[in-house]
Amino acid sequence: MQLITLVPGADAKDAQSRLQALGLWTIPVQSEHTGHTALLVEPHSRQLPSEVLREVPGVADVWAAPSPHPKVDAQAHRPIVIGGVRMGQPGAPVIMAGPCSVESATQIAAAAALVARAGGHFLRGGAFKPRTSPYSFAGHGEPALRWLRDAADAHGLKVVTEVMSELHVAPVAAHADLLQVGMRNMQNFALLKAVGATGKPVLLKRALSATMHEWLMAGEHLLAAGASAVVFCERGIQGFDPATRNLLDLGAVALMRHVYRQPIVVDPSHATGRRDLIPPLSRAAIAAGADGLLVEVHPDTASARSDGAQALDPAEFEALIASLGITVSAQA
Ligand code: PEP
Ligand code: MN
Repeated sequence: MQLITLVPGADAKDAQSRLQALGLWTIPVQSEHTGHTALLVEPHSRQLPSEVLREVPGVADVWAAPSPHPKVDAQAHRPIVIGGVRMGQPGAPVIMAGPCSVESATQIAAAAALVARAGGHFLRGGAFKPRTSPYSFAGHGEPALRWLRDAADAHGLKVVTEVMSELHVAPVAAHADLLQVGMRNMQNFALLKAVGATGKPVLLKRALSATMHEWLMAGEHLLAAGASAVVFCERGIQGFDPATRNLLDLGAVALMRHVYRQPIVVDPSHATGRRDLIPPLSRAAIAAGADGLLVEVHPDTASARSDGAQALDPAEFEALIASLGITVSAQA
């Protein structure tokens, strides 16, 4: 939050209109002690360095409240390029897609082919899977990381995959371009530290009931530990109605993009649990400001070992990408 103080006797309205011309919306506030007027900068205003604002006639000084997440804030001012793919290009959403789990070398090769054919950028797929039941398929582990990397390389795709434990940070970092921290681990600070220390970019999923502040602070942990960038991922929060698996928080998406100016992608698969809702919510996510999508797609949804009901089939995936009207390449 920025506060602009004015020189004594300055015309506040004149200063406001000059600032507005630079893209800053302000609210006048009166100091109880001095009676002087100061201007509070509205959060969605254009962000300009203090030196520029001090040049505006009538402006005395610029004050900014110290942020609890300075490294996250700093991301807002630099281009975010992950594995050669530039995030945040208008009209060029970054597409990360693939099955929930890497089930076999053949399955992930087929998934890579269909993701590449449709114009996707990243191949996703879990080698280490967090499952609610201890009796559910939990991934093939390290061999699956190799299958995933080989499949992606064969089609010129980048790899995003989840790292669940500090024990697996090294092998996941050796195979992935973007390390995913899942919603169950968003505040596993020891894991965040170990993942950040790889110096790699991280996809940070929002925990089921995490506030924006908690989510941003988890991003700060990663950047403070050395992560090169943090891409936030809204994947639905805990709602009250089981009609959808989770509740997609598009307000949080708009806040991340338009107020905090962070790279943000949306996972409509885990948000809804239903493949029929993925296309409309994907379009809504991009309209709200998402820089990309993380979508589950499976070459044979009926045989999926996890999350088949929320995976698109190949034709549905192609139709979704075509419906997004992507016209500009996202390659940096
Ligand atoms: C996933 O993307 O594979 C996953 C398990 O997601 P989440 O952490 O959002 O449940
Ligand atoms: Mn899944």
